[in-house]
Amino acid sequence: MSNLLEIVQVGDPVLRRRARALDPAELASPALQTLIEQMRETMRAAPGVGLAAPQVGVGVQLAVIEDVPDRQAALTPEQLAEREREVVAFHVIINPILTAIGSERVDAFEGCLSFDGFVMAVPRARQVRVEALDERGRPFVREASGWYARILQHEVDHLHGVLCCDRMDPRTLATTDNHAAHWAGMSPDQVRATIPVD
Ligand code: ZN
Repeated sequence: MSNLLEIVQVGDPVLRRRARALDPAELASPALQTLIEQMRETMRAAPGVGLAAPQVGVGVQLAVIEDVPDRQAALTPEQLAEREREVVAFHVIINPILTAIGSERVDAFEGCLSFDGFVMAVPRARQVRVEALDERGRPFVREASGWYARILQHEVDHLHGVLCCDRMDPRTLATTDNHAAHWAGMSPDQVRATIPVD
């Protein structure tokens, strides 16, 4: 039996509902531990660097995150450095509270497993702080910057019913194939420079 869950796509109402907070007592249930395991496998198979429970049709405040070398293989060392993309070991965030540190914003192209086949430029805070529970209900606090901060913002948005298309510059939306064909290696600003503005 496959351990993989179906990833729902934009337009599914579950993606637009605010997920409910989990009671720490629920974390001990085998069902929740199985969900975490299945979400981890589903994220890896996709492949993706984050997956929130609403994306598999479950409206609870839980997401899994992992950004490891096999997920970064398509990028050159220069691209990894430019995106401030570093290795992030697998971890779980439950009931997260996210705050931006400082006011610096960075703009980059990102995608979403629930917006399959598209990428878009999304401005995000460069640095964030997240307070959450881990899979055993233990509280932790982390500060993150660069791509990891972007992943955290993207996943916490999912738990609030917010999608990357709500925050994108709509002119930069492209299919993954068209992005690769026409805008490969270009920054959002460089892409915008190619698009006429009335
Ligand atoms: Zn997403």
